[in-house]
Amino acid sequence: VFSDGDVWPTFRVEEAWAEGLDAIALTDHVEYQPKKDHVSTDRNASYRLAVKRAEELGMLLVAGAELTRRMPPGHMNGLFLQDANALAVEDWKAAVAEVRRQGGLIMWNHPGWVGQQPDGIARWYDDHTALYEQGALWGIEVANQSEVYPEVIEWCRSKNLAMLGSSDTHQPITTENRIARHSHRTMTLVFARERSLAGLREALVQKRTVVYVGDQLIGAEEWLGQVFKRSVIFSPDTITARGRQSVNVSATNTSEIPFHLSLAAPDAVLHAPQRLTLLPGTTAVFQVRATADTLTVDAPVTLRWKVTNLITGKDRGLEFPLQLRAQLKPSR
Ligand SMILES: [Zn+2]
Repeated sequence: VFSDGDVWPTFRVEEAWAEGLDAIALTDHVEYQPKKDHVSTDRNASYRLAVKRAEELGMLLVAGAELTRRMPPGHMNGLFLQDANALAVEDWKAAVAEVRRQGGLIMWNHPGWVGQQPDGIARWYDDHTALYEQGALWGIEVANQSEVYPEVIEWCRSKNLAMLGSSDTHQPITTENRIARHSHRTMTLVFARERSLAGLREALVQKRTVVYVGDQLIGAEEWLGQVFKRSVIFSPDTITARGRQSVNVSATNTSEIPFHLSLAAPDAVLHAPQRLTLLPGTTAVFQVRATADTLTVDAPVTLRWKVTNLITGKDRGLEFPLQLRAQLKPSR
């Protein structure tokens, strides 16, 4: 409410807790205070009001603020701030320097937002090169609300920047139209070693993040591969069959995220379905069988799947090789 939001800061904490989140950042605009005739202009007010409720609920609350400038450089969040009021300066470069002086992290927000890029395509400018080269830019939003910026995935990969996703919510989360289309807000999954602000910060600095937007997870192979491997259990791992007899294979998805698999290439030994959908919290059963009834095989086989909603790059899904052992004999 201290910028253009409609929700009191303690309520933000409550609704995030109710949604099962572990951490949130409140990032009121630094330069934009349309309600200043009615509420305080203290840019630390949100954090100060909400931090006690966050502590009571065991939520981690990150002190932040959004530098709201024309493109370039566009909008940027400072996170882990000491004093957001100190960012209210004329020159955006001085504001960035102040974030860094406070030990804060700088992320570039919604680079393809139609308010600044009418065609919705994110563009990298000289100012971003300058920020990047001085080590000031830590991460970029790959997704904001329901928008996804595929080109940004490639920037983050090639420049080793953190991939981030944000709700950027202004209204109550349940009534935010653009988010209500999905079952959850757009968020960043952070792989932290401990559940503390220090642990969160360490994981963020090291860029151990995955973006969760709609049914998609966006991130590096390293993290998405782990997410998939630890979410889905395939059984059995040995396929024993005679001729073209079918063998049932079950795939149990223990996560809350659906996985959409597509066979990247047919296998010479085992025939498997072209597509599979693994719904959250369910077991799917599919059939495999020998590609010919004359095969005699006792060897490892790899079914080369792609998980099409685990996004590792522009138009690129996670590769998942399912390792099986085939013990096949010709039909009698
Ligand atoms: Zn913004």
